[in-house]
Amino acid sequence: MESYKRMTDEAAAEIVGILQSVLPPEKGPYALHEPELTSVEKTYVAAALEEGFVSYAGPRVVAFEDSLAALCGVQHAVAMVNGTAALHVVLMALGIGAGDEVLCPALTFVGTANGIAHAGATPHFVDSDAVDLGISPARLGAYLGRIAEKRGGSCYNKKTGKRIAAMVPVHVFGHIGQMDHLADLAEEWGITIVEDAAESLGSRDERNAAFTRSTAAVTSFNGNKTVTTGGGGAVLTNDGELAARIRHLTTTAKQKHPWAFIHDEVAFNFRLPALNAALGQAQLSRFDDMLSRKRKLAGIYRSAFTGARHWTFHNEPQNSVSNYWLNAVHLEAPESTSLDPILQHLIDNGYHCRPFWTPMHKLDFLAEMPRDNLPVAEMLANRVICLPSSPILGGPPPK
Ligand SMILES: *Cc1c(COP(=O)(O)O)cnc(C)c1O
Repeated sequence: MESYKRMTDEAAAEIVGILQSVLPPEKGPYALHEPELTSVEKTYVAAALEEGFVSYAGPRVVAFEDSLAALCGVQHAVAMVNGTAALHVVLMALGIGAGDEVLCPALTFVGTANGIAHAGATPHFVDSDAVDLGISPARLGAYLGRIAEKRGGSCYNKKTGKRIAAMVPVHVFGHIGQMDHLADLAEEWGITIVEDAAESLGSRDERNAAFTRSTAAVTSFNGNKTVTTGGGGAVLTNDGELAARIRHLTTTAKQKHPWAFIHDEVAFNFRLPALNAALGQAQLSRFDDMLSRKRKLAGIYRSAFTGARHWTFHNEPQNSVSNYWLNAVHLEAPESTSLDPILQHLIDNGYHCRPFWTPMHKLDFLAEMPRDNLPVAEMLANRVICLPSSPILGGPPPK
């Protein structure tokens, strides 16, 4: 007990000392991730106001979608109100819903599980990889071997009898997981892949690509993400029919007509307003610069934590390129660690660090969902601290 407290105190002192060497305390406090809003953002938003198209009309949303699709190397981007809605609607458009299970990591933001549940499907939690923080293909392969069977080209849970229709890999903190291995497994079992790329805009996998091994991906433009529209999200896909179906579902299922209101099914108003798209256009125009400063900050943290006694900097997985949405460090400690006193000490010193999310199966409303054993997710949740990661901390934007 005594030595455990001493270790915690030492680890807390060490991490604060290292952060003080990187981020001068007198310039604090430091937020976890602040949006960067420059004169470029003001110019774009002012232009949208000037045009008078603040809502759904006008060319801004389409222009934003086109830039986004180009940045992501996909043929279609459909923008909407947020990332959770994007996941909900893409699953719906793929015919995945009531009676289906959808695999996702337990160690993710609740939006992943919410998107699956809103579509009517059951989130089914699987374990993570300790190195890339995404779904562990090794553990998933073994798990499916135990609990699943393939019938008529689809995968079924032998215990619940439900179809395991899709898998949602999450690129945690911007690190791309083992997409090739996951895609091979998905192919073997007849499972559709929808990537949760809410955190990974600009990241590249081990083949220096992104979005090449899935049916679709979703991303988020929430205020704390690398690119923000204030609030927003998008579906990214190379499937033109799927994109059209999603566009229809998110825009009240209105048939094209110069004046008549003909709607052909129950649908959503999930459209992204032009005012938000204008903010997004500005952010995308500065994306390369923001990304390079975020990567620069990661390099600064990496050197600062080299040789630390209690902490290991979380590097991008081998051969991949991460946007380092959030920089993270692992506490090298016994299993029973509580990060709370360390987080309190960080916040008291002006560093607004955060722990990992509470793993989904530990949230009361999701506790009964089907799941594998989740030792790695639980270990990571007790060990990882996210560091202040705003792009401005990697240097000021060019004038
Ligand atoms: C931010 C986030 C979402 C949800 O995005 P919203 O735009 O906030 O709905 C989903 N999944 C992950 C992993 C996220 O980080």
